[in-house]
Amino acid sequence: MRVHSSVIKKAAMEKLRDRGITVEEIAEIAYEMQKPFTPHLTMETCIESVQAVLNKREMQHALLVGIELDILAEKNLLSEPLLSLVRNDEGLFGCDETLALGSVLGYGSIAVTTFGYLDKYKTGIIKKLDTVKDGPVHTFTDDLVASIAAAASGRIAHRLRDEEERLSDLQNLDSTKQVG
Ligand code: MG
Repeated sequence: MRVHSSVIKKAAMEKLRDRGITVEEIAEIAYEMQKPFTPHLTMETCIESVQAVLNKREMQHALLVGIELDILAEKNLLSEPLLSLVRNDEGLFGCDETLALGSVLGYGSIAVTTFGYLDKYKTGIIKKLDTVKDGPVHTFTDDLVASIAAAASGRIAHRLRDEEERLSDLQNLDSTKQVG
């Protein structure tokens, strides 16, 4: 039986919500990342972009896989040595970053470099998730949140350029008309 997209989307969104992560918190990171390059950027644009990224099936699949592994590790339901690797957020494990990075690749180089930055300098909710010790496991979740924020940042950069070009094309068209 094929699983309908709406079921996958609902499950992925519920998983995020259950982990206490909101669209707004992810949008705040995207805002912080893109604001220096786009002075007129608004939070609404960032929220819209995060929502668009969350609508992508690949991102939803990555969320389902990663958050599930964190939850299983939290409940000690993984076998060793994977359980210890995930529970301890072992620095050289790398599968958490690889899964997250895979889901930003469709958003271009800005998304990839922003992900690298967020992986290193964790900000906002990512920092919060990364520093929670003894209890909830966020080994995959923090990287996935970084990937959503990074993908949203890349998307914002490209869309704003498209919009600028559209406006300047309109202006040029207008001035040719006036000359004519
Ligand atoms: Mg991690």
